[in-house]
Amino acid sequence: MLSRLNEDLEEKIAARLRYYDDLGIRLFYKDRASALGGLPAPALASPALQDEHVAPGISPASSPPTRLIAPPASLFRPASPAAAAPVPAFAPRPAGPSLFDSMNKISNDTLLKIREDLGDCKRCKLHKTRKNIVFADGNPKADLVFVGEGPGADEDAQGLPFVGRAGKLLTQMIEAMGLRRQDVYICNVVKCRPPENRLPEKDEIAECSPFLLRQLDTIAPKVIVCLGACAAQTLLETNRGISQFRGQWLDFRGRKLMATYHPAYLLRNPSAKAEVWKDLQKVMAQLGLSAKKGKPA
Ligand code: URA
Repeated sequence: MLSRLNEDLEEKIAARLRYYDDLGIRLFYKDRASALGGLPAPALASPALQDEHVAPGISPASSPPTRLIAPPASLFRPASPAAAAPVPAFAPRPAGPSLFDSMNKISNDTLLKIREDLGDCKRCKLHKTRKNIVFADGNPKADLVFVGEGPGADEDAQGLPFVGRAGKLLTQMIEAMGLRRQDVYICNVVKCRPPENRLPEKDEIAECSPFLLRQLDTIAPKVIVCLGACAAQTLLETNRGISQFRGQWLDFRGRKLMATYHPAYLLRNPSAKAEVWKDLQKVMAQLGLSAKKGKPA
């Protein structure tokens, strides 16, 4: 009986390690969770990075410590609620209308109404080549929203976001965070597939992103994770390269936004997975999640 239990535990540990291996995480700290016989917590940083601190908001008394690499002092968010406002990363936006100005006027919105308003959308040229509109997937009351760029071939065929190869990697990332795909909300900047998977164009983003904004306002998540430059640049209204602000807490209309690399980029550059995992660890700390159970600590 005991050895059967041990085999089950071993298999669980092996499965979890395979997840982490897929994410490029191969270093592990020995911490209280493993001392208590739980699954090992993933390493959060390469040994070359030394500047660690315990994430604010996580009580070491009630949960294993979550260790993060300290961001630069100017980006460090103090634990006290009064001082905990997200740190704006950019100088104020240049004067002129924002893509999203009109959205501030909408109240009492619902996801159903947003979907109805989108209708059989023909607002931009992407409608000519799409098979399906890809509205979103997941929990409408999610604390965590992932925003991608736009549907690819698999998503266009199924009408669901992130179901192709990049989507499978995203699902693994979500599970490595201790969550299930159905716990989070997943959507894109544009809801129709750009031909040949090209980048969405400015006019297409301008037509489609107001619907994304309404989705975000309606769900009101605690954290928005932008997957890749297109999502981050669209929501932050910047042309800056994502590597300049990835992994930092930013403000998006009063919500916390973290930009990280797109899973499709990770498929081409697996060595960047460790960076993304560090970003996701910060998101987990913000949401009070532990990799072990995915439940608030
Ligand atoms: N890439 C994206 O940005 N979104 C998807 O839904 C699929 C792939």
